[in-house]
Amino acid sequence: MRRLTSILLLTLALTACGRTDRPTTPRARAEPLRPSTRENAQCQADLRREGVDYRELPPKDYGNGCGLYGAVQLTDIGVPVTGVTAMRCGAARAFAGWVRNAVAPAAYQILGSELARVEGMGTYACRNIVGTRGMGDRRSGHALANAVDIGGFVLKDGRRITILRDWSSPDPATQRFLQAIRTSACRRFGTVLTPNYNAAHRNHLHLEDDRARFCR
Ligand SMILES: [Zn+2]
Repeated sequence: MRRLTSILLLTLALTACGRTDRPTTPRARAEPLRPSTRENAQCQADLRREGVDYRELPPKDYGNGCGLYGAVQLTDIGVPVTGVTAMRCGAARAFAGWVRNAVAPAAYQILGSELARVEGMGTYACRNIVGTRGMGDRRSGHALANAVDIGGFVLKDGRRITILRDWSSPDPATQRFLQAIRTSACRRFGTVLTPNYNAAHRNHLHLEDDRARFCR
């Protein structure tokens, strides 16, 4: 009984620690290798309900902790998107919602032009996390196609906003736009990494559908 009590106390202590610590690096990925069949079916139903066109991709095990499980290829989300291939359904759902309901309205309301294109910089890549000391041996969310990198946005009036050039833009409207879409991404994705985080992210936003609640 005493042993049980001490285990309970230890658990409580650890839980309390977890609440107060502010992590400086993303936590270990809590996502299972494969989403459940039910989760996946629900996610695809959500995409269809939102009027998002996609193609379901067959599961693929690429070995070494890399693979596609419950992945889709988005084919039409209402705004043209380049550089986006296989994405796990949950990430695709969060991404489509972000582009349609956050990026497009922010472009129109803050920058005064409709959104013409979103420039992606990749989704699936069998690799480890880069740019964070001590995390180089951990698989990136990209290894399961659970993350998308975004490099910029093109507006219908011809303007192009890039993360590399405009993240520290002196233009107040551009700043408001980038902050608005960042805030919205942090509500929709578990991990959001921006140029504020480290040099490896100076030219893109990393949006990952995990449960890490990590927004930098
Ligand atoms: Zn990334």
